[in-house]
Amino acid sequence: MKEIVKCDQCHTTASFFNRHRYAGVCGACFNFNKVTPAVYAQRYQDLLHIFSEAKKRSRGKQYDCIYVARADAEDFFCVHLLVQEGLSVLVVLTNNYFLNDLAWHNFHQLVTYFDVDSVTYNPNLHTYKELVRTSLRRYNSIYYPFKAILHHFVLKIASEKAVPLVVWGQCQPLEFDGKFQKTDELRLSEWWILEHELNGVTPERFLGSGAQLEAGTARHFTFPSVSTGVNREVIFLSNFTRWDQATQNSDALDFGFEPDAPNNTFDQFENAGSSVYYQLHDLLRVLNHGFPKLAVHLAREIRFGRREKLDCQDLTKFLAYDPAPFFKDFLNTTTSGYRWFLEHRLSTVQHLIREAPEINLAKQMASPKPLQNKNIQDFVIFKKGI
Ligand SMILES: [Zn+2]
Repeated sequence: MKEIVKCDQCHTTASFFNRHRYAGVCGACFNFNKVTPAVYAQRYQDLLHIFSEAKKRSRGKQYDCIYVARADAEDFFCVHLLVQEGLSVLVVLTNNYFLNDLAWHNFHQLVTYFDVDSVTYNPNLHTYKELVRTSLRRYNSIYYPFKAILHHFVLKIASEKAVPLVVWGQCQPLEFDGKFQKTDELRLSEWWILEHELNGVTPERFLGSGAQLEAGTARHFTFPSVSTGVNREVIFLSNFTRWDQATQNSDALDFGFEPDAPNNTFDQFENAGSSVYYQLHDLLRVLNHGFPKLAVHLAREIRFGRREKLDCQDLTKFLAYDPAPFFKDFLNTTTSGYRWFLEHRLSTVQHLIREAPEINLAKQMASPKPLQNKNIQDFVIFKKGI
C-alpha cells in the first residue's frame, strides 16, 4: 500500500481518481473551498437552460428526461428536483441483484410518491452470475458487469424512446476526488465510462478473459454507436448544485424513504439497501485501494463542518465484514471454494472478517436518525415493495 499524504482539511487519503495535494489539501476540499454562492447560482441557471432545451427537443414525445436510479436516498432528491422543474421523467433501474428488500421498498416508494413512469431491467440471472464470478476472479471487483450493463441499457432506452436528456445524480470524481471543478461542463461519454466506471477495462477485454458465456452476451455490454448519442445530453446533477449529500439524502425521509443500518459506515442513506456495498464490495475496496467507504463519508462530513476528525486515525479498527452470504447466497459457492478464496485472495484483509470491530462505530458517531431494528432480507431478486 502506497503512503499518501493526508489532507490538512478532511484528514483523509481517500481518493480513487486524484491523489494530488493543493497547498496541503485534497482536490475535493480545494474545489469545495473556492466555489462561491454566485457560482452555484450560475450553475443552476445553466442547468435550467439544459432542461428548457430538453423540453423543446422532446415536444410531442412522452419523456423530457431519463433519470438513472440507484434505489437509494439520492433518487428522492434528484427526482424531486426534476419533477419540480416541470420535467416529464422516466425512471430507469437496472437490477444488479444485490438489492435487499429495503431497496425494493424505496424504489417503489420513489415512483409511487412522485407518480413517475419507470422501467426496470433484469439481466439474465444465470449469465449475470457468471459475469460477476469472472469479474471477481480476474479483477477483484463484483461491480464491473453491473456497470457495463447499466450504461448500455440506459443509453439503449434513451435511444429507443428518443429521450433528449439523461440525468445521473452524483458525480463521484467531482464530489469525492476533486478531479473536476463545478464549473467544468461534464458530460458522460464512452471515455468517461471506461475511465471512471470500468477501471480502464474495455468490455471486449473483459469478455475475452475466460468468462463462460453464451454467444450474444457482448451486445449487453457495448457502448451504443456514436449516432445514437446525437442531440442527447447526459449530465450529472451534482455538476450544477452544491450537492450536500448528507443533508439532501436525509430529506428523503419526508418522502417515505426508509434508511438502512449498514455495518462499516455511519451513513444510512448512500447506497442504502445493498447487500454487498458495505460488505464484500467495501472489503475489496480496502484490499484494492487501501481505504474503506467510511473514510469518504468521514471526509465529506469534516469538509461540510459537521464532524471533527476522529481521535483514532486507523479506520480498520471500526470495520468488521461478513462476506460469507455473498458467496453462499448469491454465487452459490461451496464451503471449500469459499475457504480457498479467503486464504488465497483475501489473505491480507482476512483479519477484518470478524464478528465485531475493535471499536464500535455507532457509539463513536451517533447516527443522525434513530434506527429501528429491521429484519432485512438480503439478495432479493425482485419484489414489489410497498
Ligand atoms: Zn480533503
